[in-house]
Amino acid sequence: MMLFPPDTFPRIIVKIGSALLVDAEGGVRRAWLEGIAADIAARARAGQQVAVVSSGAIALGARRLGLAKGGRASLEDAQAAAATGQIALGHTWAEVLGGEGLTAAQILVTLDDLEDRRRYLNASATLGRLLQLGVVPVINENDSVATAEIRFGDNDRLAARVAQAAGAQGVVLLSDIDGLYDRNPAQPGARHIARIERIDAKIAAMADTGSASGMGSGGMVSKIEAARIAGGAGVALAITSGRIERPLSTDARHTIFVPVKRARARKAWLAGRLTAKGVIAVDAGAVKALVEGRSLLAAGASGVTGRFARGDVVTIEGPDGAVARGLAEYDAAEVARLLGRRSEEHEAILGYAPRAALIHRNHMALL
Ligand code: GLU
Repeated sequence: MMLFPPDTFPRIIVKIGSALLVDAEGGVRRAWLEGIAADIAARARAGQQVAVVSSGAIALGARRLGLAKGGRASLEDAQAAAATGQIALGHTWAEVLGGEGLTAAQILVTLDDLEDRRRYLNASATLGRLLQLGVVPVINENDSVATAEIRFGDNDRLAARVAQAAGAQGVVLLSDIDGLYDRNPAQPGARHIARIERIDAKIAAMADTGSASGMGSGGMVSKIEAARIAGGAGVALAITSGRIERPLSTDARHTIFVPVKRARARKAWLAGRLTAKGVIAVDAGAVKALVEGRSLLAAGASGVTGRFARGDVVTIEGPDGAVARGLAEYDAAEVARLLGRRSEEHEAILGYAPRAALIHRNHMALL
């Protein structure tokens, strides 16, 4: 069976490392990339939405600028290389996806963009809209402006965060190795691990023996960290080799990290890590809709307390007490104006293009 098939994984993120995209001379591995574009097109035809997290900007730019150490000798070099390489990288993606009749879109993000809840929600909405439109978002870290302290630094963890923001069910890390081994895979007797249910100290220790191609900044440690982030958000993560043609169409060997149960993970995140800034009171009908997994619409809301901004955590209270927590799509004053009003009325009331819900179901956890 195909890895992360469209019927059970309607939305996936594919991360492609520098060593797969760029050859030893610093040129694009065009034929291989065309194969990836064909794979993505086949999945799109089968109804799957695919976003790509693509490395390679630094490696491509370094060659164009003639920089030593693949452009990684200093932060300034890396940033100059990234700025130069990114434009070529985006162009290449637009071409290879275009060759398959697909439209590419570019998003460059910094760590802060996904850590700040408001910016996270915006990135999430943009990704969602692009995917709905059938576009293939191609995402990379905005290496040219991110400073050392606020960088992801590797696209493995970036891919996991993007998956969370995009509401994807799976992340594929295409690597130069087909998964995790219990010791250095070059050693005799090294055993491949196909499935990991829990990332414990033993698994983390195995990561230290993994490979690093030398071109990107990934390696197995950042892949395990990515699996941890993805798993905590209810997203499955697979590591598989990109050292073959059409890796997304073949059922090649891989390691899969099984996520923590989705609802529990979201609930833990929302209920545990953040404190609520306000309360939205809802009627019994709205409680029923929420329990069925729907978004909170203004029509079912009857009261609001507290001071919160868009993106802040709020508690939803029904007639019998708190029922859910979620990230507000509107600030408290806006919610007050929208109470009990149907979505179609929102634009007339607020004077600008509204969000469909007060709290989207993707950003809500039932208590
Ligand atoms: N963002 C970097 C680039 O485009 C790659 C980071 C990584 O190696 O994972 O070159």
